[in-house]
Amino acid sequence: MIDWVAAAFSSAKAAGDIAKSLVTLRDEELVRGRVMELTSTLMDLQQQMMQGQLEQMALIKKIADLEDALKSTKAKQNVLERYELRGVGPAKVVYALKPEYADAEPAHFCCTNCYDKGHRSVLKAMRQNNSTSMKFSCPECSNTFFITGEYLPDTLKAR
Ligand SMILES: [Zn+2]
Repeated sequence: MIDWVAAAFSSAKAAGDIAKSLVTLRDEELVRGRVMELTSTLMDLQQQMMQGQLEQMALIKKIADLEDALKSTKAKQNVLERYELRGVGPAKVVYALKPEYADAEPAHFCCTNCYDKGHRSVLKAMRQNNSTSMKFSCPECSNTFFITGEYLPDTLKAR
């Protein structure tokens, strides 16, 4: 991608050599030939610099795109970092808000399957299964969870 740099250095050196040789030439025909050669070399150099500018613009755009992607990934990561894996019955786990965030949002649980794939999916309460557990479903992957009543926050218990 940066071949133009080597070519540009080569063209600039050639232009410098031609310019030096012009100083000692006395023959008008030779001078005219060298000037044409110099003009051609300078045009090559200009072309190489334009190529370099195009590549630089492409790289700047690529960096901006990568910075956007990084920002988005960090934002997602910040959301996921608010949760911890919590046992909600024998051999049952879900992701729940860490205690330090529990006051900032209403009580809810998140799907372990979706969390492990890198995104949050808040479980939807389906129905009071029986007096000992409640069924939840993931709107993203349809995974179902039965959460034992003693692990349900009061706000999620059926009235
Ligand atoms: Zn899910």
